Amino acid sequence: MIVILRVDVTERDIDQVVKVLKDSGYRDAHISRGLERVVVGAIGRPQQDKALISERLKTMSFVEDTISISKPYKLVSKEFHPEKTVIKVGDVEIGGEQIVVMAGPCSVESREQLLSTARFVKSAGAHILRGGAFKPSTSPYSFHGLGEEGLKLLAEARQQTGLPVITEVMDTRDVELVTRYADILQIGTRNMTNFSLLQEVGLVEKPVMLKRGMSSTIEEWLQAAEYIADKGNPAVILCERGIRTFENFTRNTFDVNAIPAVKQLSHLPVIGDPSHGTGRWQLVAPVARAAIAAGADGLLIEVHPNPPQALKDGPQSLTFNDFRKLMGELKGIAAATGRKA
Ligand code: PEP
Ligand code: MN
Repeated sequence: MIVILRVDVTERDIDQVVKVLKDSGYRDAHISRGLERVVVGAIGRPQQDKALISERLKTMSFVEDTISISKPYKLVSKEFHPEKTVIKVGDVEIGGEQIVVMAGPCSVESREQLLSTARFVKSAGAHILRGGAFKPSTSPYSFHGLGEEGLKLLAEARQQTGLPVITEVMDTRDVELVTRYADILQIGTRNMTNFSLLQEVGLVEKPVMLKRGMSSTIEEWLQAAEYIADKGNPAVILCERGIRTFENFTRNTFDVNAIPAVKQLSHLPVIGDPSHGTGRWQLVAPVARAAIAAGADGLLIEVHPNPPQALKDGPQSLTFNDFRKLMGELKGIAAATGRKA
């Protein structure tokens, strides 16, 4: 439920509303102060009848309305939280004016490979280093990542470059381990509906980047984000990484629609991943530009020192030179949309 209050309410009035909500069984309340009204969003599930709670609230002169959110997600919805969420990771703000670029290899393969890539992407202007230590794989026989050794290399790269790191966690049993090393936890496309994993990362005090399931609708994706927020972690970043369609020239179909759609429905930041979204390095830069033009808050770009030698996702990885070129191109697009790159 959200409660709309007059813009001139006092703190005491707001406290009264929060008290009624908590007395009715809601766990907490989120307060948004807008220019025209104040919105109080109730968190949790009430123990009393919603119509009765609403009646009680409406007896207060400063309550303009109460609205029951009909969508299957609430905490991540725009109605509940009208202002944009900005997630801070060190000095980096995701969802603010700056377009945030997360770049690095698909997988951490060796110390030399990771450190050289980290130093390069930093020098080219990336804000966050990515690299998989636990790799999901369609085949049980392919590379599954270096595990904890990969996490240690990511920590070393962070120390050398100052870049925060994002890496995937695939299993509830690894959440504690990955949280010790990573600045942002990534939930991959194959785990978007792994509800126990979503709940587990919902208990963590670090941001989570939730990739869209390759066959999931926007509504299902937002419900997955709700699982994380409902456990108490509001720092969720959405990532559009392409969906499965009949088209097979590209690895996936990057759903550019999803970016403005999610911006309309949710307050969470959205990152575009044209690397997995296309599967072809030649298409990465144009689709990256399209994602920023459509309103994405940032990009996830796979970069490798020698893509033909990559253990994973070589065909979609940019060389150092191509990555530098893309970073230059983003400036104009960002400026045209009122952002900074
Ligand atoms: C990745 O980021 O390397 C990855 C495996 O992504 P996705 O889950 O989108 O396939
Ligand atoms: Mn990859």
